[in-house]
Amino acid sequence: MIYGFIKGTASLIAGLGVTIRAFFQPVVTSQYPRELLTISPRFRGHTRLLVDPENPEKNKCTACGICVKSCPSGSIKKVEGEKKEGEKKKTATEYLLDFTTCSQCGICVEVCPFDALDFSHAYNSAGYKREDFHYDLVKELMRNRVQ
Ligand code: SF4
Ligand code: SF4
Repeated sequence: MIYGFIKGTASLIAGLGVTIRAFFQPVVTSQYPRELLTISPRFRGHTRLLVDPENPEKNKCTACGICVKSCPSGSIKKVEGEKKEGEKKKTATEYLLDFTTCSQCGICVEVCPFDALDFSHAYNSAGYKREDFHYDLVKELMRNRVQ
């Protein structure tokens, strides 16, 4: 009886010790989604097009189609572009990515001769149907620029 009481009390004190120690440690949880997390630069969300630094109104993709041919999953469904008068290269006007089949392998990012692609940091994409993950990366770029 007494042995049980001593053992229980020791266990209680040990447990309280853990609680008190944790109380004074820095907070590591965050109030998601009100507080958004800082994402590692190496994190791979879906691919995204990059802005042309010489002309912030344009993206860097010339619609050459190399990434379309290189994608092992066939996830890049369509890339269309147009060449405006006086310009040397096309600029993508449509870039359709089916993110439901993309393995985020990075081949499209590596093969692009114009460094027009990288990975977004979109870690909290959610949807109710597969079509919610069919992205037009040109539209995504415009939308993110406005936000
Ligand atoms: S990351 Fe890989 S699977 Fe995804 S679109 Fe690019 S090449 Fe295709
Ligand atoms: S992202 Fe790069 S490889 Fe793909 S179509 Fe555009 S310029 Fe070509």
